[in-house]
Amino acid sequence: MIDFHCHLDLYADPMKVYDEVRRRRTEVLAVTTSPRAFAKTSQYFQGTDCVRVALGFHPELVKQRPSEKQLFLEQMRYVRFLGEIGIDGSPRAKQSIPEQIEFFDEVIHAAAVYGGKILSIHSRGAVKEVLQILGKYEGKYVPVLHWFTGSVKDAEKAIELGCWFSINPNMCFTATGKRVICCIPINRMLPETDAPFTQKGMEPYMPWDKTVTSYLAKENSVGFQEMNEIFHQNLLSIVSR
Ligand code: MN
Repeated sequence: MIDFHCHLDLYADPMKVYDEVRRRRTEVLAVTTSPRAFAKTSQYFQGTDCVRVALGFHPELVKQRPSEKQLFLEQMRYVRFLGEIGIDGSPRAKQSIPEQIEFFDEVIHAAAVYGGKILSIHSRGAVKEVLQILGKYEGKYVPVLHWFTGSVKDAEKAIELGCWFSINPNMCFTATGKRVICCIPINRMLPETDAPFTQKGMEPYMPWDKTVTSYLAKENSVGFQEMNEIFHQNLLSIVSR
């Protein structure tokens, strides 16, 4: 199984989840929410198989922590995976949109210049702003839109821009989510959980959760194992670029 956007460091007992991740051979992209958290999380998971740690700066924190912006831009040079990064236009983060746009623009510009980066991007309530910036810089980086909540039209625009999508279980339960999933080519998607912020009943989702893979297996009339295989091929094609 694969979880391409998981806050592994934010579970109540990350090492316990990690042990299970290894036992089940789950491939996890452990996104972080600040450059400081990245430093700590990479120490934990340094040299471990199964877990790739991404350098992140959650858009909601960008205005509160201006001193970490420079740190992010410096660390960025040395890492392959970035996330989470992006823009958040939801009511509680809206007032910092100008700062978020400015910083995201700077990060994408740098990613395009360096090349080879793989990005897990947050776009809640700000899909148009995110796509506008992605459209500005052509470069050899791979943008993966995490838990996409835009319209079908937005999704089509993103596909044209070369975006990938990590599909959250919650997208399989909403009408818009289902419509968006329908229009994404099967070779541009990966599963994610965004856990522990997302819950299945009373418990957080786990990185080895089967919801997304089961849903897409059914949608594409293939078996569960075959769908899982397709996702692993997709992951391989992203990381071997
Ligand atoms: Mn997240």
